[in-house]
Amino acid sequence: MPIVERLLLGPGPSNPYPEATEALGRPLLGHLDPEFLRILDETCDRLRSVWQTANPLTLPVSGTGSAGMEAAFVNLVGPGDVVVIGVNGLFGERMCDVAARCGAEVVRAEAPWGQPLEPAAVLAAHPSPKLIALVHAETSTGVRNDVEAVAAGKGDALVLADCVTSLGGIPVDIDGWGVDVAYSGTQKCIGVAPGLAPFTMSPRAFERRVPKPQSWYLDLGMIGDYTSSTTRKYHHTAPVAMVASLHAGLGAVLEEGLDAVWARHEANGRALQDGLEKLGLELWAAAGHRLPELTTVKIPDGADDVTVRRALLEDYGIEIGAGAGAFAGKVWRIGCMGHNARPQTVTLLLAALAEVLGR
Ligand SMILES: *Cc1c(COP(=O)(O)O)cnc(C)c1O
Repeated sequence: MPIVERLLLGPGPSNPYPEATEALGRPLLGHLDPEFLRILDETCDRLRSVWQTANPLTLPVSGTGSAGMEAAFVNLVGPGDVVVIGVNGLFGERMCDVAARCGAEVVRAEAPWGQPLEPAAVLAAHPSPKLIALVHAETSTGVRNDVEAVAAGKGDALVLADCVTSLGGIPVDIDGWGVDVAYSGTQKCIGVAPGLAPFTMSPRAFERRVPKPQSWYLDLGMIGDYTSSTTRKYHHTAPVAMVASLHAGLGAVLEEGLDAVWARHEANGRALQDGLEKLGLELWAAAGHRLPELTTVKIPDGADDVTVRRALLEDYGIEIGAGAGAFAGKVWRIGCMGHNARPQTVTLLLAALAEVLGR
């Protein structure tokens, strides 16, 4: 296979931090090797720092972000449980599908794509749900939903936040906000190859798990016994190379510092958005709720979606994302996350886009 270097600015994999890539090339350790277990334990500690939580059950679930979503729902939701789900994009829809497969009674609290959820409406959707779930950073629209406000009003319910495109990019404060369960993915702002789902669950949620989750593989009782150094017992073979890579990627994030990482995403994402507007393009996500790490922009009249994206890819080696769902062909989604959230990336993309669009 030819080696092709691309600048990945889609909503999919970002370019990994160099440390994370380097770790993938190291000799493999056995999954029960003491040195690997030390790396695993330290990875869980680093995840606690990045999630800003003391939750003992904090670990990388084997699988991509969607495996984190499945793990959250299959462990907490059984037949007849009422689950309120905020839906204003593709990933809110996916949560509804996953929850329904667990037999949940799904109550949707909706907002139009491109607009944020109204926290009061999410909280008012049902008087006594077991779980309230929402997506923090809707990658399909570029909108940030207010997880903190929803968690503040949760009452007896548990709150679940999809942080796949927020962790490592914008502030996420699990314990400070009172979020009970959250998952992420390695390939978005964390800047590691796809393959693991950083995960955390509060003791309060852990006590309210369903007695026997329908998934053996994602049973957090057994996975927690494996990842905890005090109860360690084989469950499944950890993807050792991916764990080593996540360990290194989280190390890079923590060494830079969470505040600095968030500030870098904010500054470069806003520079990208300002630059797009200077090119005469129109941003799509509601002002005041735009994610710095994922920008949606309307495809201008006269520009052909496929032609423009192909020119960026073939002439400049830059991949941007197509619109999702009903907005395919109407918007582009441009990631500026993880290692890519840097001035040189923004400048290169804006110049290439200006050239391709003839602006
Ligand atoms: C990417 C993404 C997912 C799914 O993650 P995969 O790694 O593709 O399984 C879920 N939620 C959000 C918000 C995402 O951006």
